[in-house]
Amino acid sequence: MTLIAVSIAVESADAVEGALGAARRAVADGAHMVEWRIDRLAGAPGGAGAALALLSASPAPSIATCRGAAEGGGFEGPEDDRAALLEALVLGDRPPRYVDVELSAWESAPALRRRLGEAMERRRGPGEHASLVLSVHDFERRPPDLLQKLKRMIDAPACDVVKVSWRARSVRDNLEALELLSERRKPMIALCMGRFGLLSRVLAPKFGGFLVYAAAGQEAPTAPGQPSVRELARYGFGRIGPATAVYGVVGWPVEHSLSPLIHNAGFEAVGHDGVYVPLPVPPEYEHFKATVGSLLDQEGLDFRGAGVTIPHKESLLRFVQERGGAADESAAQAGAANTLIAGAGGLRCTNTDSPALLSALRDTAGLAAAGLAGLRVAVLGAGGVARAAVSALSGAGARLVVFNRTHRRALALAAAFHGRPTASGQPAQVVAGKPQSIGCGCFEVYVNCTPVGMEGGPAPGEPALPPDVPLDERTVVLDTVYTPVRTPLVLRAEAAGARVVTGMDLFLRQAALQFEAWTGRPAPLEAFTGALQGPLR
Ligand code: NAP
Repeated sequence: MTLIAVSIAVESADAVEGALGAARRAVADGAHMVEWRIDRLAGAPGGAGAALALLSASPAPSIATCRGAAEGGGFEGPEDDRAALLEALVLGDRPPRYVDVELSAWESAPALRRRLGEAMERRRGPGEHASLVLSVHDFERRPPDLLQKLKRMIDAPACDVVKVSWRARSVRDNLEALELLSERRKPMIALCMGRFGLLSRVLAPKFGGFLVYAAAGQEAPTAPGQPSVRELARYGFGRIGPATAVYGVVGWPVEHSLSPLIHNAGFEAVGHDGVYVPLPVPPEYEHFKATVGSLLDQEGLDFRGAGVTIPHKESLLRFVQERGGAADESAAQAGAANTLIAGAGGLRCTNTDSPALLSALRDTAGLAAAGLAGLRVAVLGAGGVARAAVSALSGAGARLVVFNRTHRRALALAAAFHGRPTASGQPAQVVAGKPQSIGCGCFEVYVNCTPVGMEGGPAPGEPALPPDVPLDERTVVLDTVYTPVRTPLVLRAEAAGARVVTGMDLFLRQAALQFEAWTGRPAPLEAFTGALQGPLR
């Protein structure tokens, strides 16, 4: 079992009570241990007494860490002071279960080594005792001499647990950390820091990691990229094991994606042994190819699939074709894919946006695909989602006009689909419209594929359709924006009596199709919506 240690920095004796409260809450949330970061407390008035008080009142076994400034900590005093403090803690009434010392300090400070080593030796035995974690940190990059340092820690007789932590420069850094865990010769902690490092933390139980650190709720993390105890629980941390299959959402940015929430809740609900993580991959095909290729090729990772979002949907289709995989009709038609499926059946990709859009129009707005033939539809936007919408709707025989802020992109999108054969064999009808003509009153369906109205987007609070567009009970409005669920366009359409499909409806449908493609089981929609209760209004 991989332990979760909540890491709490305590800067002064006055902060002890608050820190203990945070630790108690984290333990109630599932933390097994508490790392007390006493780097600054060590030099504060009454610091030694306060550190002893922390250990004796700790709600779970402790790790005492007085991190030196050279490796990102706040302790700047002489090594003799650090040695005296750690010695006092180890010999105290309630010693820490572990003491963490940097390899560099262990090797360069003989007094620290001797005093701490002797104190730990005296405490060894059947009762409470302290063990040694030797650690290496690099807040910039993978240490160039990582392997030599690892060997020195493994070879040090006093070292009980080996810890390495470095700032990941890409998702691929995590794979080396996970490989180190699986090849460990002593209990090991191998973690990546920063926005790219989450994978190493969430997947530590799959590869036998000894422990991961977590932030305590509202408190600032003690290392960049540290998730909270609750976040780890949302990834199903306690259920992850050697056979767990790995999935993720690839995009840039991707940290705020709701997909991990719903898919992890879904996996738990149906008993699927899988975990779904955000995979930030910068724009450009080369990044996508290198990252997704490494995930697929990594032995023992069991990478079975991914949701792919902005800006990589076209990259996914190209990648699968280059690797000799299969793109299904929805992906090939749209020229983009949002779902990667890897496994015994080979590599495949599909586009669940298009079928989700058709099923939402059918189920929510009463517009069956057959009923779309000949309907006049205005599509707003000419980006990736608009492309999926145009592909699905023109294929069903609707007559489309694409409106876009940048008119030449509307022209290009229309030209890409106009004249293609539709389901009935007739040529598709797709043209570009001048923005000022959208109020003509000649459309039965409006589909917003721009981020207008999206929280945090370019025009929050604004309706995506101009006020002169007539809406009534005969019109259908589909807004792809889902934060907030009830956008200004949705509110206006509802008030006018129009039939409305929300972006959340669409989002859940495309996610459900992905879930089915990965697990072979129907998506548990109640678990999906339950998982979203907190984050959405
Ligand atoms: P995209 O490829 O970046 O395209 C964005 C489109 O919106 C472009 O046509 C752009 O016009 C237009 N646009 C951007 N800002 C605008 C503004 N201020 N006023 C008018 N038009 C503007 O993005 P995408 O992947 O198609 O996604 C579009 C939206 O769909 C997202 O913002 C999201 O809300 C929604 N979405 C929903 C789901 C779902 O499952 N429900 C999934 C993905 C996305 P230009 O060509 O002039 O730049």
